[in-house]
Amino acid sequence: MTVAAEPLLIRGARLLDSAGQVDVHLAGGRIAAIGDAPIGDAPVTAPAKVIDAEGGLLTPSFVEPHFHIDKALTFPGLPPTEFAQPLAAALDRTRRVKARYTADDLRERATAAIRLALAHGIGTVRAHVDVDPVGGLAALNVMTDLRDRHRDVIDIQLVAFPQESIVRDAGALRLLREALTSGADVLGGAPDVEEPRDRSRHIDLLIELAAERRVGLDVHCDYSYDPGQRDLETLARRTVEAGLTGLVRAGHCCALDSYDDAAAIGVIEAVRAAEIDICVCPMGNLMLVGDRARPLGRGVARLKDLLGHGITVAAGSDNVHDMWFPLGRLDPAEVAMVTAVAAQMWSKQQLRQVFDMVTVNAARYVGAPAEGVRVGAVADLILFSATSLPDVLRNVHGRRTTIKNGRLVGGTESSVWTA
Ligand SMILES: [Zn+2]
Repeated sequence: MTVAAEPLLIRGARLLDSAGQVDVHLAGGRIAAIGDAPIGDAPVTAPAKVIDAEGGLLTPSFVEPHFHIDKALTFPGLPPTEFAQPLAAALDRTRRVKARYTADDLRERATAAIRLALAHGIGTVRAHVDVDPVGGLAALNVMTDLRDRHRDVIDIQLVAFPQESIVRDAGALRLLREALTSGADVLGGAPDVEEPRDRSRHIDLLIELAAERRVGLDVHCDYSYDPGQRDLETLARRTVEAGLTGLVRAGHCCALDSYDDAAAIGVIEAVRAAEIDICVCPMGNLMLVGDRARPLGRGVARLKDLLGHGITVAAGSDNVHDMWFPLGRLDPAEVAMVTAVAAQMWSKQQLRQVFDMVTVNAARYVGAPAEGVRVGAVADLILFSATSLPDVLRNVHGRRTTIKNGRLVGGTESSVWTA
């Protein structure tokens, strides 16, 4: 059941695309008026509540496009010398940790993660959940319940993610099929978990299933710094052949960074033809994927080239304080900051581009409304106490208020610096 939002007035906020301060009226879950410009001639309803923005930025909500909710916050249980490299070691450890999951443990960690999301301003999250013979559908069942319970305050999309081989084990593919009828919203994929000779078969199986069910497909792709690995290109070509243009998404795409220019542009053009949006995950990839011999070759997809070719690029947290990544706090502002550093995006205009990667671009990536702050748009918003975008990304004056469908649902009170 959705709780109706009472009219709310945000007084004296700063918007990204205009100078000065404006009053923003929210009613019926939408932005009813900005300054003196209400929808049509409808009078603005007297607000039930007024928030004084004090010149802080009011922006679209964060959207977290790539997050492993079942794995989140497992790091404290690991032995002190564990390290997730190479890939096989990480997969092996994931199997061991996952075998010990209980429904209570999954529920507790995922609920803590949802609280982090609400605190940090996330209105929609796309969460990958392992669906494989190790844990079956147990984690997915917990997450569908949590998704439904939290509908009022956050949109959670669940991706059925095959962390184990679907080529060598037909049972794993059967579980994916079951997941799609048991509450998963999107089909996931991970060609990297297969033997190299089986990776294109993995992609074929995913494409077949996505076409059969007409469901969105979101594939972990090219989690390596190997210029010979071309799964993204294979995925793009099969997408077009299967008539799935516009329905497929790809995460990581690290190997793109290792190709020579001509090869990279060829792949990017195939991606554009298939209308595949890309999600980079620079935090974990900087730590696990890069090439030690090339300090700047750090396994983050060629962001500027992708943007230059008109590809929608989002940025995600991926793993948060778990068996793949020790740090992170599910904060898209932090992801944007690391993205800017990794991609050497320096100017104010480029900082705006990275902010878009965790807001409107991420919304497009997951198929959520990406309407920005304008009259008539869904009121999924963040009010920052910071007054400029660089200060948001620096997390200076870190107070945030999270607004979902016109209602206050969370936020942070922090960064009171003292001397
Ligand atoms: Zn991932």
